[in-house]
Amino acid sequence: MKNKVKTIAVLTSGGDSPGMNAAIRAVVRASAFNNLKCFGIYRGYQGLIENDFIELGARSVSNLINRGGTFLKSARSKDFMSKEFRKKAFKNLKDRNIDALVVIGGDGSFTGADVFSQEFDIPVIGIPGTIDNDINGTDYTLGYDTALNTVVEAIDKIRDTASSHDRLFLVEVMGRDAGDIALNSGIGAGAEEILIPEEDLGIERLIDSLHKSRKSGKTSSIVVVAEGDQIGKNITQLATDIEKDLPEYEVKVTVLGHIQRGGSPSCYDRVLASRLGVGAVDALLEGESNIMVGIQNKKIAYVPFEIAINVKKTLDFDLIRVADIVST
Ligand code: ATP
Repeated sequence: MKNKVKTIAVLTSGGDSPGMNAAIRAVVRASAFNNLKCFGIYRGYQGLIENDFIELGARSVSNLINRGGTFLKSARSKDFMSKEFRKKAFKNLKDRNIDALVVIGGDGSFTGADVFSQEFDIPVIGIPGTIDNDINGTDYTLGYDTALNTVVEAIDKIRDTASSHDRLFLVEVMGRDAGDIALNSGIGAGAEEILIPEEDLGIERLIDSLHKSRKSGKTSSIVVVAEGDQIGKNITQLATDIEKDLPEYEVKVTVLGHIQRGGSPSCYDRVLASRLGVGAVDALLEGESNIMVGIQNKKIAYVPFEIAINVKKTLDFDLIRVADIVST
């Protein structure tokens, strides 16, 4: 079975994240290094269905490592959910003698990859590309470090205006199901409170804590709120409720939104992308399939799709303790 693979294809799927370009570049160059032919597929699974391919050589991915987003473009594809279209997708691969696929994306993309690989007996390797860091089996996902730095930089700026006017700022960051961005950026930016999906401490405790901060001499405060926080109110409503109980503060809301997805990848993400891209091609040459290439304790790890997809990643709860202590 080993070294069977001769031609591979790579695509980016789901939400884009900084470092996807660097990962494509690594896959393309690792293919060239190993004398494999490599194709890029535009617009994720939709482009795979619609036959939107480009052959990529080592020189076709120059000046990409520093660019945010994905030059292959990403997409969500409803069509790929149906077998009829996946059949078409497989035919497009076979017509070019492509015998393996690398999918850069999140858990949804891996679910699609797993289904496709089993249906048509074609090796598929996943690279975790999402800013949320919510994929089990890898310590970090591509784009997470860059997103954290973007958030911290933005909160530093918000803090300047907060402290000039005795304001309380609620800053919403991405994370519907995972609090990694909120918790780590909150600690990094010195937030007073951090609200995450994994924990519900209730609005009373939040208000009580903000009261205490005020009494201890703090005149401005930053509260980082993950999109999926458990208090569960729309952030503007949350601001109104807090203002009722804390009239001494002017409460403002900032939703950071899509700026968190953009920007030039950090050095950490570029190196991670390079390692995961090379790791994906190594895995194919070793005869692997249906796995995600991740990073665990600084080492490349092969994680079966079913474990990456179906097991929920656990949050480092000690970070909550640290956040509480350093915000005293
Ligand atoms: P993000 O974390 O940014 O949301 P993701 O990879 O989880 O990224 P999804 O939109 O969940 O993003 O999935 C991307 C694509 O994967 C879907 O648009 C669909 O084409 C494909 N996909 C997801 N689940 C399945 C499935 N059960 N069968 C076939 N394809 C699927």
